[in-house]
Amino acid sequence: MRCITLLVCLCLAVPAWAGRMDKKTSDFVAANMVSIYYHELGHALIDIMKLPIYGQEEDAADVLSAVLIHDFFKEETAVRIAYATAFGFLGDRDITKAEKKEVDYWDVHGPDLQRYYTFVCLFYGANPAERLAIARDLNLPEGRLSTCEDEFRLANNSWGPVIKKLTAAGAGRTIRFLADHRVDNYGKLALDVIEAEVGSMNKDMSLPKRLLVRVEPCGTVNAFYDPKIREIIMCTEFAKWLAEVSP
Ligand SMILES: [Zn+2]
Repeated sequence: MRCITLLVCLCLAVPAWAGRMDKKTSDFVAANMVSIYYHELGHALIDIMKLPIYGQEEDAADVLSAVLIHDFFKEETAVRIAYATAFGFLGDRDITKAEKKEVDYWDVHGPDLQRYYTFVCLFYGANPAERLAIARDLNLPEGRLSTCEDEFRLANNSWGPVIKKLTAAGAGRTIRFLADHRVDNYGKLALDVIEAEVGSMNKDMSLPKRLLVRVEPCGTVNAFYDPKIREIIMCTEFAKWLAEVSP
């Protein structure tokens, strides 16, 4: 379990401009940048370590993100990140209202609501003794609650040995961070959070090959892993969008 808390990340990111973004919003953006980074790291590890994926790669990346949020953080911080991540999947949708939205069934990602419920289920299933109220608060139906412990066990059996292998390799500098500093306030927040996250990971683990993580404007709301150049690109526009949909 990592000692660094999200607050530590945010402390790094509270310069003069912080007054323009309230703490709740900046916490929401920071937490989502962390969980999105973990998702992209899933794609990177699948590529670098040639991991077999018997299903949709996007789902496997989501599962790694849930496992790492549970593994890396103390309970209180993990819960805060989990709430933000769940609401990040919802975007501007209100789960308590029966809103009908067009679903892109052709997309490589699962539908947003399915990703939301699966994330909540995995997070609950990782510590059911303490997280039942959270699962209920996040509207996980009773019908799904019963399978979550087994779902997390399977997730942990799949990703656990991979994480163990990386941490067994010890500290290193295999994840390199690169940022375009000519960014807006949202970009600065994303940049500080991801830089701190990369630093923490390098203290905990080493990857078999070098991975570059860039935070930069891309002209679109996105984050992705490019296997051709072995780079994770976190677009600063994503941070701005998250601030806009922050609940
Ligand atoms: Zn993905």
